[in-house]
Amino acid sequence: MVTARLEILSITRRFGGRPVVDDLSLEVMPGQVTCLLGPSGCGKSTALRIIAGVDRADEGEIRIDGTPVAGPGLFVPPERRGTGLMFQDFALFPHLSVADNIAFGLSGTRTEKRLRVRELLDKVGLVRFLGAFPHELSGGEQQRVALARALAPRPKIMLMDEPFSGLDNRLRDGIRDETLSILKDEGAAVLLVTHEPEEAMRMADEIALMRRGRIVQRGAPYNVYNAPVDREAAAFFSDVN
Ligand code: ADP
Ligand code: MG
Repeated sequence: MVTARLEILSITRRFGGRPVVDDLSLEVMPGQVTCLLGPSGCGKSTALRIIAGVDRADEGEIRIDGTPVAGPGLFVPPERRGTGLMFQDFALFPHLSVADNIAFGLSGTRTEKRLRVRELLDKVGLVRFLGAFPHELSGGEQQRVALARALAPRPKIMLMDEPFSGLDNRLRDGIRDETLSILKDEGAAVLLVTHEPEEAMRMADEIALMRRGRIVQRGAPYNVYNAPVDREAAAFFSDVN
């Protein structure tokens, strides 16, 4: 299995002097799904972008399997971190076929690439769309292609930013379950950002509850839900999002 441990150590990111991520520490264990859960604007995407290496923290350190990849005087670029990133809008390349979208970031021989594309399309149940173009697919199908594309290079750590929020309500639960089983099958450690308690409850091995740039509670979904750290956390869980 291709997986790793992710450690985020006291990262801070300021915009115009205001800390949006504020001394945040978090650990994601190999093979586990950790949900970074918190209300809109609390700094989740900013934190995830720093971990992916598309932004830099002002302070703090990030380690993957014990090796620092970002910190004072150190910056390993995104493509050398072994992380995969998946955003809210799947942003498939419109001019490339489904197969070419998935193969895009792959190295290796043509045969190796073709086998990997085939294996992933099989997992997401879309082999029949191999030669199709993104606009010919439904939203749910595009989402699955985006998942296949992100997993293709076998990232040790998958970073996902509200990957289901663009989907129709009717589809969402099914796609969440399916995505979870594919992620477990591939084995990567997953850090999934969401503002929906229900999604975190459904998908997480561990929830990290975030508020105003900080983690305020961590634990198994059942524990976080049943023993919220304070009134604000209880209210957040009881809100209909
Ligand atoms: P979340 O993903 O939890 O909704 P974000 O990380 O997107 O939160 O944003 C947290 C806060 O940081 C917001 O108030 C947002 O306006 C601010 N912010 C994010 N990126 C920037 C930026 N590049 N410049 C200034 N402010 C930003
Ligand atoms: Mg966000």
